[in-house]
Amino acid sequence: MNFSEHLIIGGGISGCVMANQLAKRKLDFKLIEAQATLGGRIKSTEQGLDLGPTWFWPHQRSVKTLLAELNIDSFAQYTQGDYVYQAGPNSPTQRERNQETVLSHRVVGGMGAVITALQNTLPQERILLNSPVKSMTKLDNLWQVQLNNGDTLSCANLWLAMPPRKIAPLLLAADHCVLSDALIAHLQVQQTWMSAQAKFVAVYKTAFWRDAGLSGQGFSRVGPMVEINDASGADGSSDTKGSPAALFGFIGVPAINRQSLDEQTMINACVAQLGQLFGEAALSPISTHYVDWASNTFIASAADINEPSQHAHFNQEKFETELRGLSLGLIGSEFSQTEPGYIAGAIDHVDSQTSELSCIFKQ
Ligand SMILES: Cc1cc2nc3c(=O)[nH]c(=O)nc-3n(C[C@H](O)[C@H](O)[C@H](O)COP(=O)(O)OP(=O)(O)OC[C@H]3O[C@@H](n4cnc5c(N)ncnc54)[C@H](O)[C@@H]3O)c2cc1C
Repeated sequence: MNFSEHLIIGGGISGCVMANQLAKRKLDFKLIEAQATLGGRIKSTEQGLDLGPTWFWPHQRSVKTLLAELNIDSFAQYTQGDYVYQAGPNSPTQRERNQETVLSHRVVGGMGAVITALQNTLPQERILLNSPVKSMTKLDNLWQVQLNNGDTLSCANLWLAMPPRKIAPLLLAADHCVLSDALIAHLQVQQTWMSAQAKFVAVYKTAFWRDAGLSGQGFSRVGPMVEINDASGADGSSDTKGSPAALFGFIGVPAINRQSLDEQTMINACVAQLGQLFGEAALSPISTHYVDWASNTFIASAADINEPSQHAHFNQEKFETELRGLSLGLIGSEFSQTEPGYIAGAIDHVDSQTSELSCIFKQ
């Protein structure tokens, strides 16, 4: 049997930060990820354009600390200039003065740079990619984790860095489920933040909107995008010197309605909308990227897609004794007690679990 002291399931930021903490303590661990790459909801293009999360905020100190540790720079979201607004299908685009309050910050090289840097701190032989977990249970004081490929791994301590609604089915798939009905039910109601979102990015030769005194911000009651922002690289000039000049938007069409729309139709509609908002130059992007997170079956669940967006509220205190008794740690971002759903929440929560690592599973 393939045994490790610690097994982490899920290679998003939570799983990667956890693996980094265990590696630093020279503990025996394996990190198991269903998909071909690490990152989970964090996904950036080769040019560093974010297709998942983009921002962190000044109060999120743990993000800044992690970036400093990994030697990664950050910069303020570009908001200089006016924003544009589409009130309705027949209304002309309005141009409004921006408040220019810089609140959100971005990562140089995109959020994916954080995952790459974390991965580089880990012994590669401890990472299993393309390895979806099929079921998990506890027998004779050891966790038994069965993979889709038929392999079984065992461990003393199991860390689940997965969306909450992806956990219960794996426990219920085993011959006997070791979690209480109350905990299973509580996991099933925790929504995975932004998992029903889709994001569009258009890359341009220059950030032409900046030259026209526009911030790149746009808001629309028409769609398909409801909010648009500048997604250009860090240097802040209109030709962005080698960093891509880009705009990104959040799609407002509900996930359930997107299922019947093909990707090219969505892309064409997004480019046309950018043309209406930012002028003719916006109609000729060099390239476009579109990611529908709702179609990622390792992230989104049917319930996430059908509910209005909300943050998880996991009651750690109520289930602490049960979890410790099982040597089970729930460490995905949604389990954070401070900022569930955010990158900062993921880092904070792993930190809070590992700060007492030496005694966490000893009652
Ligand atoms: C479009 C979008 C925009 C966002 N914007 C922001 C933002 O601006 N700022 C911010 O702070 N947050 C933002 N978020 C949220 C942020 O991405 C998440 O908080 C964070 O990435 C969660 O990390 P995680 O590791 O906890 O979970 P995830 O990234 O979801 O990772 C879970 C991992 O578990 C794996 N997994 C699932 N099932 C199995 C299985 N059976 N076997 C093995 N592995 C499995 C998955 O493949 C995945 O890699 C955004 C998210 C999206 C989608």
